[in-house]
Amino acid sequence: MTNNIDNKESALRIHDWRLAVRDVLGPGIRAVVWVQGCSLHCDDCIAPETWSKESGSLVDPHVLAETILKNETIEGVTVSGGEPTEQPYAVAELLACMKLAGKNTWVYSGHTLDELVAKNDPDLDRMLSFTDVLVDGRFDKMSAGIYTCRGSENQRILHLQDLGQMEDSDVKEQSRLEITLDKDGQMFVVGVPPPEFLNKLKDALFRRGVQVDYKSGG
Ligand code: SF4
Repeated sequence: MTNNIDNKESALRIHDWRLAVRDVLGPGIRAVVWVQGCSLHCDDCIAPETWSKESGSLVDPHVLAETILKNETIEGVTVSGGEPTEQPYAVAELLACMKLAGKNTWVYSGHTLDELVAKNDPDLDRMLSFTDVLVDGRFDKMSAGIYTCRGSENQRILHLQDLGQMEDSDVKEQSRLEITLDKDGQMFVVGVPPPEFLNKLKDALFRRGVQVDYKSGG
């Protein structure tokens, strides 16, 4: 991916991204982008490595979108983190490119929709205007469990472009994860795992003589 970043605000600081995951962090075949940087620091966050605002890498959101769109199977993009609303200008640029190409867009934020609207930030409002589905609210370890596309009960799946459909309350709750192993033995987990799932999986593999490092992207 070639990056032509003309100024800092237009650059997107990302932790990682994955192409063509299926039915995790949103429906269908999608790309997932984890942004770098989160000030919220929820207790038991599954991705504290995304908190720092200095690490990760800077990319041009237009170039990232172009790279994603080269894969014709992609139906949508999910932006998770990290906290996407801490980089609203660059995230809006990525989402705008995806919407222009007819793809669906999901965004995960630790802030509630009400909190985001109350900020009165034009960049944030623009970002929300390109967001089909917002999964909102901090991760609350006291209500963590097995939920579809979210980690704790307080978090909501909000269809922003169709306000008649606020939440998928009729969908059976289940966790969906995509787990891949690279050639160096590092396991990569995409999705929101139930509490303690990753530790139990690691222990079960260890008892069978398999030692793994894992990286997770919620
Ligand atoms: S769960 Fe999300 S909002 Fe909370 S600290 Fe982790 S990355 Fe930030």
